[in-house]
Amino acid sequence: MTENYWLFLIYLVSVCLFILSIQGLSSPKTAQRGNWLGMAGMLLAVDGTLLALPGENHLWIFITLLLGGIVGIFTGLKVKMTALPQMVAAFNGVGGLASVFIGLAEVWRGPAQTIEVSIGIVIGGVAFAGSMVAYAKLQGLLKPNFGRFTYQNWFNGALSLVLLYFWYLFLLKPDNLSAYFLLGITFIWSVALTLPIGGADMPVIVSVLNACSGWAASGIGFSLGNMALIVTGAIVGASGTILAFVMTKAINRTLFEVLFKRLNDQSGTSTADKHFVRSGSPADAAFILENAAKVIIVPGYGMAVAQAQHILHTMASVLSQKYNVDVKFAIHPVAGRMPGHMNVLLAEANVSYDDVYELESINREFSTADCAYVIGANDITNPLARTDSQSPLYGMPVLDVGKAKTVFFVKRSLNAGYSGVDNPLFYADNTVMLYGDAKKVTEEIVQVLEQN
Ligand code: NDP
Repeated sequence: MTENYWLFLIYLVSVCLFILSIQGLSSPKTAQRGNWLGMAGMLLAVDGTLLALPGENHLWIFITLLLGGIVGIFTGLKVKMTALPQMVAAFNGVGGLASVFIGLAEVWRGPAQTIEVSIGIVIGGVAFAGSMVAYAKLQGLLKPNFGRFTYQNWFNGALSLVLLYFWYLFLLKPDNLSAYFLLGITFIWSVALTLPIGGADMPVIVSVLNACSGWAASGIGFSLGNMALIVTGAIVGASGTILAFVMTKAINRTLFEVLFKRLNDQSGTSTADKHFVRSGSPADAAFILENAAKVIIVPGYGMAVAQAQHILHTMASVLSQKYNVDVKFAIHPVAGRMPGHMNVLLAEANVSYDDVYELESINREFSTADCAYVIGANDITNPLARTDSQSPLYGMPVLDVGKAKTVFFVKRSLNAGYSGVDNPLFYADNTVMLYGDAKKVTEEIVQVLEQN
């Protein structure tokens, strides 16, 4: 009884730390503190669980903890910033798989709380299989539109009925065989549902799967009677669900459309005249930038690849301090490859939060800007998102960079971005392409700005 009391208290403190952690993570200023609080909460929860376990299991648990810890630390240190979304998807999938294993262990142990266990197996299985598909797509192992076919929704609808049937069979007779069948059909269903999703919808689906792994953990927490699992699972589930809705709003689609209404990745080609593209040198750009009154910088995935955030901050500082230019940074909610990707990079480069603006608050300022400096960004500026209903970007709010007097696109070629859609802005009269690596081009501009 006393032991349970202490465990309950430890879990309660760790849950409070998780809640404070989420609160901290809601602003870049307090994000680091939030991260530390989350880590402390997790350490406490794991320690509490270990202390409450019977002694003979400790060796095995330490071995698995050590192995998992080594893999986690090694991957965390090695992963490139641009590959973080894939890593999140992969780790998320592993979380789902853990719920599946706990669920199966409960079935093997005999009479179990069938409903909770089946929820853990199904939702955990969905999180695992779907996350693996998301990983493969984000890593570029599968093309964004891979796995699409006609009547797909009908096929998936039929699979859903099969899944419900096997779930029903498991609830009737919760033995090993029915659990394996339930898991097998869950994997197939999740792959079938996730496979056709691509393009701008991918970040949403990663959030949905993240929420699934949280709800699965929560379900398993009920079957084990573990308060920490129930609450932390619910926190992950709720935050993932909220994030998914925030992201669907950002791309102007509903969750239903993301899951069931495919956009054609190939069809959104530009109707613009492609015969003339204006390009310039870093020296030309430096001249126009230093004579501008207002410059808006739009970072995207290419800035992350090139790791150009530090030199970009230097460029902004030189422009504002030496040339008195009003410089602002505009962030699109799905710029880069994960939610908050650009915020993290700009914060890492010590760009002041006061200079960073979200899409809604900056968009009307482009018409009063002399220059838009679009660095390694593409889809988030594509005006076809407004005009071409067949485009995979259709409906996504975009940054109105074309309204600035001059638009610089810093990228290596005229190639499309993540969605595979051509960007008609490259051929617009007020656009100047600055071909090259984002970091190198910006370095050359800074050199000229500092010399002048
Ligand atoms: P995009 O993928 O649209 O464009 C990035 C551009 O960067 C490319 O066109 C590429 O052009 C250029 N680039 C790549 N490397 C370099 C480099 N070293 N130097 C200079 N340029 C480079 O990125 P955006 O940020 O504009 O848009 C994000 C896209 O990713 C959206 O479609 C979004 O839906 C999707 N997405 C977002 C996620 C999120 O959570 N944020 C998650 C998953 C997908 P070039 O090859 O010519 O250099």
